[in-house]
Amino acid sequence: MRPLAFFFKKKYEALLNRIIPTSYYPTRPFNLNEVSMDDLIKQAADDLAAARNVVALTGAGISTESGIPPFRGKGGLWEKFDPMEIAHIDAFMRDPARVWNLLVKDLKETLDTASPNDGHKGLAKLEEMGKLTTVITQNIDGLHQAAGNTDVIEFHGSFAWQRCMDCSQKYETSKVDISEIPPRCSCGGILRPDAVFFGEMIPQDAMWRSRQAASDCDLMLVVGTSAVVQPAALMPVYAKESGAKVVEINPEKTPLTLEISDYLIMGKAGEVMNRIILALESKI
Ligand SMILES: [Zn+2]
Repeated sequence: MRPLAFFFKKKYEALLNRIIPTSYYPTRPFNLNEVSMDDLIKQAADDLAAARNVVALTGAGISTESGIPPFRGKGGLWEKFDPMEIAHIDAFMRDPARVWNLLVKDLKETLDTASPNDGHKGLAKLEEMGKLTTVITQNIDGLHQAAGNTDVIEFHGSFAWQRCMDCSQKYETSKVDISEIPPRCSCGGILRPDAVFFGEMIPQDAMWRSRQAASDCDLMLVVGTSAVVQPAALMPVYAKESGAKVVEINPEKTPLTLEISDYLIMGKAGEVMNRIILALESKI
């Protein structure tokens, strides 16, 4: 190699290592096409059996099997609507009735009847087995709590509650009367979802607690999220930095795959979780 090319190669490697230290690379040779699904399930069961503090990071992909359409991506709500028009806090402040009619009402109808699927139930089972401590979710649907997980950090707040914009009184969304839009609090104030609109801050305590949980775990399961949206995207990095294994369950490769995650189990959250739990139960 010519000296100049060598110099640049070294520089490039040093730069790459600064971004992704070599310790982040998977320790064994890994080719997604060569490892069978059975082997990956077995590996995940082994890793979970050895882990003492598992944290899960979840996103829209875990809830699609409960009939909840994702916001982003193919078939997502943002293909039909411009989120800045209907999901930005300014849009809500300008015309709450419009946002209620275009977005919130439909979401309420969908979520009022949605129930946890095998993906959620699998994570609840992992908590029951004493493995999983915390779920960090980007979802607002409350399905992790419905499935039985007791420590759920909701990055984007919760749609399970509506909050009065005047007095902050909270109402359970499923019990809010929407015969008049926008619905109002007994004080006359307008109700809004207790979730984060575009243009609003991520709740600080959620941010802080997630970072802590990610740094403390020895295995992070990333389920149904491509983890490209900040700050959720940082959580697998914090986990990895602290020496945890990062195991991905997603229908396709993501920016995390083999960069941050140790391996990807490609498939639907429910199906994969069922298989992992079965394999794990036979070990314990
Ligand atoms: Zn009120």
